[in-house]
Formats: sequence, structure tokens, C-alpha cells
Amino acid sequence: MNVYDSARMAEVLAPLGYAPGDGPEDADMVILNTCHIREKASDKVYSELGRLRDIKDQRAAEGQQTVIAVAGCVAQAEGEEMLRRAPYVDIVLGPQTYHRLPEMVARAHRASQSGMRHSGVLETDFPLESKFDHLPLQRQENGVSAFLSIQEGCDKFCTFCVVPYTRGAEFSRPVAQVVQEAEALVAGGVRELTLLGQNVNAYHGTDTAGRETGLGSLARRLSEIDGLMRIRYTTSHPRDVDEDLIAAHGEVPALMPYLHLPVQSGSDRILEAMNRGHDAESYLRTIERLRSARPDLAFSCDFIVGFPGESDSDFEATLDLIRTVEYAQAYSFKYSSRPGTPAAGMPRQVPEEVKDERLARLQALLMEQMTTFNEASRGTTCEVLFERTGRHEGQLVGRSPYNQAVHVEAPAHAVGDMATVFIETCKPHSLAGCLREEGQPKGDPREEERLSA
Ligand code: SAH
Ligand code: SF4
Repeated sequence: MNVYDSARMAEVLAPLGYAPGDGPEDADMVILNTCHIREKASDKVYSELGRLRDIKDQRAAEGQQTVIAVAGCVAQAEGEEMLRRAPYVDIVLGPQTYHRLPEMVARAHRASQSGMRHSGVLETDFPLESKFDHLPLQRQENGVSAFLSIQEGCDKFCTFCVVPYTRGAEFSRPVAQVVQEAEALVAGGVRELTLLGQNVNAYHGTDTAGRETGLGSLARRLSEIDGLMRIRYTTSHPRDVDEDLIAAHGEVPALMPYLHLPVQSGSDRILEAMNRGHDAESYLRTIERLRSARPDLAFSCDFIVGFPGESDSDFEATLDLIRTVEYAQAYSFKYSSRPGTPAAGMPRQVPEEVKDERLARLQALLMEQMTTFNEASRGTTCEVLFERTGRHEGQLVGRSPYNQAVHVEAPAHAVGDMATVFIETCKPHSLAGCLREEGQPKGDPREEERLSA
């Protein structure tokens, strides 16, 4: 979502004459768009700011001004404290106010011209009117695949998580606004959309008749856009997978058979302490229901190890759940204590070395599953959407339905096209193959066997 937000910030600043630069050294303005989800991400902000202060000083010595803005969830969480700690920062703005950036930049310039020191602009409120009502619907995206935020914020208050505090209450954009933005993106050449939200499947935007519309129906509506080939969405919550969304997976071919459905833990005791609102069994049932609607559906997941009170047997329950589901991809993290969240004050915090050891075991198992999943595509064909030219001459990089990067020799004009590719090699993070021309077996015995079967 920060990638999407950054693109939107660039768009609102374009009319002022700003364009994305190559690095901070020559920039008139630098925006750090920050993440507060784990301590490590937050800590990075201050070290990066120190570096920017040196650049700002250096440029000032050469008579050039540099505006430093900090956006995103760290800015939201720290607010005034950030301006105190780093007084050379000109603007601190939260995730819900960036449509007002032009005005903030003007205020920052006025402050610096009048020689006012420590007069940083702070905009971290949660406006009643959504920023989306003030952002241009004509997007300046020139890639094949684009993000589109449809939902933001969260009302679930998992005990480890800062999102409800930094992104604010759950909000869904109206259907017509989403469709208009999607149509503009597709008209500009986009072929794949990833719908975004902290809880994307809690989406319940209103249609023009004022009726609430769920994610399944939104996907159906978007799939009618001519030229849009693929729809993905992330991140979904197990509690919000409803019948209509499950049905949409079976009915909408553009909806890719790949779903990020985080569970965090396989232990009911820990899930309860996390306030997730589901247990392991109901999660597994949801997976089963989705798989019966769309048997080729593959799953990815997020896990947290070392949540306060997690015992060896809780951790084993997580490993068991992983063995049952068999993931295609996963992200796993050591629990990171976040200020102001209930879990930060819970007893029985897990020692760092135990977290390290559990994370290593969990990741080894997940890596095995990811490798098995990737290996299974060797010797098969799949539809690849070409996104860009590759590092080698004559090579394109595209994505399989399962979001795997696929390297293929193909002409540059095929960027934006979908083609059938025969997968020949699997690397840990990508696949490689060749264009599968009609009626020409490639000589691989497994492929010929598969075709004749
Ligand atoms: N809404 C999504 C997750 C959004 S946050 C959901 O409910 O699944 C993205 C991921 O960051 C989470 O899935 C979780 O695995 C991780 N995360 C969030 N807070 C964390 C914390 N305090 N420590 C470690 N990982 C955390
Ligand atoms: Fe955070 Fe997701 Fe829980 Fe919301 S549902 S509090 S975003 S982990």
C-alpha cells in the first residue's frame, strides 16, 4: 500500500512541477514514506533521516533548498515527537492526509522563506472526508500491473498490530470510484490490477443505488472492463471470506488462483490471545471451501513466531497447520513489540533466541513447500503476462497466475501480452521457460507425456 500511496503523492505533486528523481542528492524535496508495522521498519526512519540531514546541509551550503517530508505510519504514530527529534524535517504527514501535500509544501516554503526555525508542518489528523475524494481519478501509471487501493484501515484490533491506530478506522471506497480508477488504469495500458486493503475482503463499498457491495461482486464488476486480464487482491482476513467471494473464485476467470490469507499462528490459544477472531480449524475449513470452488487455488500466508506466551506446543501447532495447508509462498516474522498495543504489555514475552530458533525452523519448512510448489511447474505450461524487458537482451519478464516471476525469450513488443509458456527451469525465486508455439511439442518427454495424456 505504501507503493500505491507513494505513486499517488507523486501524482498530486506533479502539477507543482515535481517529478520523481533518481536519488536524494539532487532532489528539491525528499519524501520518506514509512512503515510502523515492526520495530525494525520504524528504526530505519531515523537513520535514514540522519543521512538526509547531511544532504540538506550540503545543498544549503550550495544555496539550494531541500524540503524533507516524512509520510506514512511512523509519521502518524510519532507526529510532533518526530518534529522535535528531527527539527530539520519540514513536513510530517499521516497516510490519510497526503492529498493536501501541495498545500503543505507551500506552507513549508513560506516558513523557510520567513526564516522561521522549527516550524515544521504537521498533518496527522483523520479527515472526515476521504482523501480518495480529492485525488485525481486519472492515474499516471505506465506499467502492465498496477495497485489500486479499495479499502483502508482496520477495526479488528489484533493485539500485536498498529494498523488500526496508524491507518485509522476501516473504510471502503465507493464502487463507482474504484471502477473509474480501474478503467483509467486499463485505458493507460494496465492489464493486471492488485486490489489493496489492510483487510481487502472486508470491502463493502456502496454502489450507485446505495447498496453495500462485497469484494466478490466488485471483482465480477471489474472483470467486465475490456482489456483487464488479471485481478488479484491483498491482504485478506480469514474472517471476511464470504460465500460470494468463494463463488467469485470459481466463476471469474480473471481472478487469479492465488490468495494471500494470513493465519499468523496455528495454535488456538495464541489466536485467541491475538484477538484474531478465528481458530485453526475454521481457517482450514475456509481453505477447503475455497479449494472446492477453485481446485487450482494456491495460498500464501503471514506468520508471527514468538508471540507473548507462545509455548513449544503452540509453535508445533503452527508447523502442523503449515503441513496441512502446503503453502506456495509465505512471509514470516518474529513478534515485534509495538508501543501502545495490548500485546506489548502481556506477560511471558518470548526470549529473542527462542524466536530466532523458531523462525529458522518455520522458514525451513516453508522454503521446502515453496520449492516443491515451484518445482511442480517444471515441464508444464502456464499463461504468462509479460511485464517488462529482462536484464538480458531479448528477454522478457512476466508473471505466472501464481505471481511467480517467469523469464522468457520474447520480442520487446510483447510487453503487456499474455502468452503460453513452457516452463523449463525453476530457481528459488523465479522460473524460466520458452514460448509455447501452437502444436509444437518442445521435445521435453514430460511435456509430451502430459500432452498425450
Ligand atoms: N490485515 C492483515 C495483515 C496486515 S499487517 C491480516 O490481518 O492478516 C501485515 C503482517 O505484518 C501481518 O500479517 C503480520 O504477520 C505482520 N505483523 C503485524 N504486526 C506485527 C508485529 N507486531 N510483529 C511481527 N509481525 C507483525
Ligand atoms: Fe492488523 Fe490485520 Fe489484525 Fe487489522 S486484522 S489489526 S491489520 S493484523
